[in-house]
Amino acid sequence: MKEIVVISGKGGTGKTSISSSFAYLEPNAIVADCDVDAANMHLLLDADFEYQEDFFSGEVAVIDEDKCTSCGKCYDVCRFDAISKEDGFYKVNPIDCEGCWYCYRVCKDEAITMQTQKAGDLYISNIKNGSKMAHAKLGFGAENSGKLVAHVKKHAKSIAKKENKEFIITDGSPGIGCPVISSLSGANLVVLVTEASVSGLHDLERVFKLIKTFKLDSVCIINKYDLNEEMTSKIEQFIENENSKVIAKLPYDETFTKAMSEAKTIIEYNKDSDIAKAIIDSWREIKNHLADTKR
Ligand code: SF4
Ligand code: SF4
Repeated sequence: MKEIVVISGKGGTGKTSISSSFAYLEPNAIVADCDVDAANMHLLLDADFEYQEDFFSGEVAVIDEDKCTSCGKCYDVCRFDAISKEDGFYKVNPIDCEGCWYCYRVCKDEAITMQTQKAGDLYISNIKNGSKMAHAKLGFGAENSGKLVAHVKKHAKSIAKKENKEFIITDGSPGIGCPVISSLSGANLVVLVTEASVSGLHDLERVFKLIKTFKLDSVCIINKYDLNEEMTSKIEQFIENENSKVIAKLPYDETFTKAMSEAKTIIEYNKDSDIAKAIIDSWREIKNHLADTKR
């Protein structure tokens, strides 16, 4: 089983449109939507949310008003300003609480308990090409999206094993933070999607530092290459210097937004279009690359 992780250094590069198209093209793959802060792959793949489970992560302090004697010690020690006094009672704001347990330890009246928080939902869905996907929604204000990503990947891997699938196609989150690092764990190949702009190159440089740290193999797709061909050349040179490979240069094409607005993948929207053909070729290239490198 091979895991292909599609990432980009920034949002708006067309990463999810491309990874959804790969997913649609490959029924022999389980899909993992690890962009848990802004998950939307389920819309393009018509996920049915067949299975749901709560995701718990982190703890927050809760004050029992019946036991609290309003001594104020917890308020004094909280370095995160998570405790306030309202109408004579001390209260914890769960959004600000970092779960450090300091208040719990100083409360002599045992009025504080530390409670595990629901941080999001994990789903397993059937998708429109007959395969399955693991996906999630992070709760409002919830942290630990890296842990939720790991949870999504674990489920995707277990379904892929059970159903004897050849691939896992993972849509990672943009940026270089904790959720992306979690998305990259166990990847056989990273597909970097960038666009021909100054910020595209800058973010690509940052992402390459990350994948080099983890010694991961990569290929690249340059989207909207024709909007700035001089920048495209610089990006190609950079990718070559990093011993990676450009597998596709996609022109600016309104099909990306039109397909998205109709909740379709680019392949479904118009499989005979040049952009759909280029994405089909890219997926073939990815499979060939994995076969050649035997990673
Ligand atoms: S330390 Fe305990 S008793 Fe004192 S204000 Fe806080 S919760 Fe109430
Ligand atoms: S657990 Fe830590 S952050 Fe949360 S209220 Fe108590 S002292 Fe403040």
